[in-house]
Amino acid sequence: MSGEEQKYIREAFDTNWIAPLGPNVDAFEKEIATYVGVNEAVALSSGTAAIHLALSLLEVTKGDKVFCSSLTFVASANPILYQGAEPVFIDSEPDTWNMSPQALEKAFIDAALTGALPKAVIVVNLYGQSAKMDEIVSLCRAYQVPMIEDAAESLGSSYKGKPSGTFGEFGIYSFNGNKIITTSGGGMLVSNNFEALQKARFLATQARDQAIHYQHSVLGYNYRMSNILAGVGRSQLAVLHERVESRRRVFENYVRELADLPGFKFMPELEGTRSNRWLTALTINKKEAGVSVQSLIDSLSELNIEARPVWKPLHLQPLFKGVTYYKHDEAENVSETLFFTGICLPSGSNLKEEDQMRVIDCIKKSVKLKV
Ligand SMILES: *Cc1c(COP(=O)(O)O)cnc(C)c1O
Repeated sequence: MSGEEQKYIREAFDTNWIAPLGPNVDAFEKEIATYVGVNEAVALSSGTAAIHLALSLLEVTKGDKVFCSSLTFVASANPILYQGAEPVFIDSEPDTWNMSPQALEKAFIDAALTGALPKAVIVVNLYGQSAKMDEIVSLCRAYQVPMIEDAAESLGSSYKGKPSGTFGEFGIYSFNGNKIITTSGGGMLVSNNFEALQKARFLATQARDQAIHYQHSVLGYNYRMSNILAGVGRSQLAVLHERVESRRRVFENYVRELADLPGFKFMPELEGTRSNRWLTALTINKKEAGVSVQSLIDSLSELNIEARPVWKPLHLQPLFKGVTYYKHDEAENVSETLFFTGICLPSGSNLKEEDQMRVIDCIKKSVKLKV
């Protein structure tokens, strides 16, 4: 926490705005919109809800196809299923670990041949690193398919100076407890399309028609953010800049101490982009390092240090069995390689240097014992 949260929470209580609307919600929306430079933002109960509303606004429905990054958290794609639509998963490329423009183009070509273009493309910015937006945006434009930018992990990052989350028709952020700033749970939908976001607000409040007798013509949701939590978000947003600096420092410490170990390769930062380094991620070549990701996770765990593999690609998930998947190229299945060789290290903004040294020492020992 930043320390200022209680002030906004107290304000909510003092003015009795204990509801999924109120001054903190309005102000948080304005502050996020200003921060990332978009016309409008809608505060919601989660990032997942924001993706769901974006798909709903794009009229994604039963039988439609939606292209989505494969190497991501399941929440990126679940809303596709909520809408009864069909996901098609796209591999990563090695420079950003994000959606491969090459694989995306192949998927577009195939879809155009069958006359069934997707209704939307969901592009994820993994661990804070922006995808290759120039290439992806121009492909989506060429096929006239709207893009949704899943920036749940990349608030505070930028691509060629432009804030992450502002490249698609819609962008989404998450304020879940594990994200770079948090409201405990929450999300935001952003866009330059003011009318679409007015409709998002309407859908998020049970799609209630303008009548005093609670009339409803279309299906809505209860997706608005609480005025108390929006207060938490406001004080968090004020320290986002510091959080990014802390996470980048954590990343740099790991690089300084570990980058020279045999077989260790840190997640790249594409030239012209700035990652918030939400999580420090790297791959380990087992043959060169003499240690596998799993045994390293086990050694860390023995010291009560939690580390995790990178996201399991969605095309490998039992939930999405049988779904179409486009590889980066014939020879390279990038997301699978990243999954089998990747590890995320403790990366909290409040990680103390001495604690980070414990992680680093354990890793160095594990590698030395094995080589
Ligand atoms: C966290 C996350 C989400 C979902 O956000 P919630 O607020 O937890 O619903 C979506 N996509 C990615 C890539 C995420 O990391």
